[in-house]
Amino acid sequence: MARWDEIVSTGDVEDRRGVSSGLLLGGGGGLVALLLTLGLNYMGLNVSQSTVESAIGTVQTMRAGQAKQTTQPEQFRGNDSYEVFTRKVLGSTNDVWSGLFSQNNSTYKKPRLVLFRQATQSGCGIATTDMGPHFCPQDQTIYLDETFFDELRTRFGADTGDVAQAYVIAHEVGHNVQSQLGVFNTKASKTRSGSIDVELQADCYAGIWAYSQAKNGIFENGEIDQAISAASAVGDDHIQKVEGVQINPETWTHGSSTERVNAFKKGYTSGQPSQCTNLQ
Ligand SMILES: [Zn+2]
Repeated sequence: MARWDEIVSTGDVEDRRGVSSGLLLGGGGGLVALLLTLGLNYMGLNVSQSTVESAIGTVQTMRAGQAKQTTQPEQFRGNDSYEVFTRKVLGSTNDVWSGLFSQNNSTYKKPRLVLFRQATQSGCGIATTDMGPHFCPQDQTIYLDETFFDELRTRFGADTGDVAQAYVIAHEVGHNVQSQLGVFNTKASKTRSGSIDVELQADCYAGIWAYSQAKNGIFENGEIDQAISAASAVGDDHIQKVEGVQINPETWTHGSSTERVNAFKKGYTSGQPSQCTNLQ
């Protein structure tokens, strides 16, 4: 366990894990298109047709069930340990990027983070667990259902320790940085090669965050390997291998395991955002 309690700053986290999403959700064909559009922003897993169907399945189940849970269950009232963890990690990314932006005489706009279960409304439509952690530029918010990490561990063999999960948050924060620099959700970023550029740069930006945490003595010995394991597990070639489909670079959107690990390490060893280009 890294020394998160040594981080003083806290980020803006909203806990919706006990809030029913059933009444928030719209339906219909627009949802499929919406989910597919969002596909570029996911942490690592592509949205396959089955995922979209299962996402809609979840939505319909919840609507049919009308589970009107209007109060927070006991476990999510107040700061549970996961909420505290995400606040600290987000706070530490705010410190890093506020510092780097101010060196360039600009002001970093801090993102928000929403914890949820199954599905919730986001500024980009509906966020679901199946999408994986992702950043929505419209409301400058990261959406995270931490049960996603169980699947990442069991299906994709990733190390999902606390440092690995922090790397994922730092990667999504990287998209917030890109959004402010005008390179996220541009036309160029929507081509396949452009998408890989954006994703590898976000990995490199996560590495910049890790460089700073290492310098501050937040990680225990060897804990950085968790982040490297996670970056490797969400490489497109590894995902295709696990899913039993042909490994085909023509379909990649995030970069290979090697590219993702190398991008992270480039940020981690240099601490310089200027190093986070030409990563393919
Ligand atoms: Zn990403």
